[in-house]
Amino acid sequence: MAEQYDAIVIGAGPAGYVAAIRCAQLGLKTACVDRWLSDSNKPSPGGTCLNVGCIPSKALLESSALYANVKQGIAKHGIIVPSVEIDISVMMARKDKVVNELSQGIGALFQSNGIAFYSGRGKLLLDKRVEINEFNKKEKQIVSADNVILAPGSSPIDLKAAPLDDDLIVDSSGALAFSEVPGRLGIIGAGVIGLELGSLWRRLGSEVILLEAQDKFLPIADDQVARETHKQFSAQGLDIRLNSRVVVCEAKNNQVHIDYEDANGTQHETVDKLIVAVGRRPNTNDLCAEEAGLTLDEWGIIHVDAQCMTNLPGVYAIGDAVHGPMLAHKGSEEGVMVAEIIAGHSAQVNYDTIPNIIYTDPEIAWIGKTEQQLKSTGVEYRAGNFPFSASGRAKASGETAGMVKVLADAETDRILGVHMIGSHCSELISQVGIAMEFGASSEDICMTMFAHPTLSEAFHEAALAVGGRAIHLLKK
Ligand code: FAD
Ligand code: NAD
Repeated sequence: MAEQYDAIVIGAGPAGYVAAIRCAQLGLKTACVDRWLSDSNKPSPGGTCLNVGCIPSKALLESSALYANVKQGIAKHGIIVPSVEIDISVMMARKDKVVNELSQGIGALFQSNGIAFYSGRGKLLLDKRVEINEFNKKEKQIVSADNVILAPGSSPIDLKAAPLDDDLIVDSSGALAFSEVPGRLGIIGAGVIGLELGSLWRRLGSEVILLEAQDKFLPIADDQVARETHKQFSAQGLDIRLNSRVVVCEAKNNQVHIDYEDANGTQHETVDKLIVAVGRRPNTNDLCAEEAGLTLDEWGIIHVDAQCMTNLPGVYAIGDAVHGPMLAHKGSEEGVMVAEIIAGHSAQVNYDTIPNIIYTDPEIAWIGKTEQQLKSTGVEYRAGNFPFSASGRAKASGETAGMVKVLADAETDRILGVHMIGSHCSELISQVGIAMEFGASSEDICMTMFAHPTLSEAFHEAALAVGGRAIHLLKK
């Protein structure tokens, strides 16, 4: 007889594994199936995020930041390092160790929570049955559940003009495993991945050229932030070419030849490696048998309601495979919500307070509405800006680039959006999340005591600036 569960999760990325753990915590008999295998063919739960996304990219960003700091930043502190070298193989081995340890950690969490883990492919069949094709078993098996949670994640979008060859033309996963620093590195797409990977390899010494099809830089960010970061990235040597659409790429003689079109016609560029980073698409091919009748949209995104319920009763979908930003923490929160709902509780995700972070240097972080969004919807607002150059702590650290901007409703003073560029903004933004989750006004932030000297004071000062009363800003 088929094994019966209260909940089965397909996919053990940050959406799926968190959903499985919360289901188990709530007393549900839970299973999770995931198909990710490490380079040594071992199960590696954690999905894109842990294996080829958030974690390895941040491990390498950290290494590259240390290198760049020792090379360029440390002398101003009076610390003289006569020579500095990179050993890419050690850097990569450290990154792999971080990934392996965290992935094993998820295995341990599954075990300690009594979750049955299947390493293999899962496919949703009719009536909440799931076909499991385990890698270490010849026969497929069918299990069934009262509830199925689909968390299959996403994969990089292919570009016909730049077919991957696993050596010279790679996707983001390939770019996290280069064995040497490319001399000249091309990147198609100046989105989040393009900017993070571009920064990473630029810091290690590559000449980096980003070819971006849109004519506006970073349109998802606040315009002021986008302008400021564009300036800073250009000063760092990132060659960002907007309005540049790649027509054809050819890998020959150990180089990639790129033809692209911009406002002046067809251009030619030659690079040593090319990264394709033009977005991601949901992994919904072959996730579900046709007769099960799961509704997908034309992009393969699983159709869900506000509670992540699909059109099939008892079948939920979460993470990158549903609407919304493709972010690990957004998927995890959906996983918790669905587990709570299955266990009979009420739960929801507040999509208005999702933190967005780009882990470049300086870091870019924001929550809520941009100025252009507020203007386009006719919302009256007041803005307060505070530059890190006026922060004592930023000065002491020598990291004065950037600013904090608070946007508050002109009538109610409720915070509608906060935008930051600068050092440690990936950490600073969480206090904004807490404030916005509690419905804070800019006055609430003004009335809060912030420790001195900290970078967080810039948030306080930006809130004060909403009412024209920032202490450490020269009077206009
Ligand atoms: P995934 O993490 O993709 O996991 C889905 C899992 O399901 C995978 O293991 C997959 O193999 C498995 N699966 C799919 N289909 C099946 C099936 N039929 N049977 C069994 N298993 C299946 N986000 C952030 O928030 N912060 C970051 O800093 C960040 N950095 C990133 C850097 C890079 C280079 C990339 C590529 C992405 C980054 N992201 C980041 C995005 C983040 O990785 C994703 O938003 C997140 O992983 C999505 O989680 P998920 O659980 O929905 O899917
Ligand atoms: P993206 O959507 O952020 O950027 C893709 C870029 O490629 C866009 O600017 C787009 O205009 C451009 N583009 C598309 N087709 C093109 C073409 N033919 N030629 C030139 N440019 C082209 O996607 P991404 O950078 O691939 O990232 C995918 C997802 O992963 C994002 O949704 C992001 O949220 C997530 N991610 C998040 C983080 C983070 O939170 N720090 C880090 C990495 C990835």
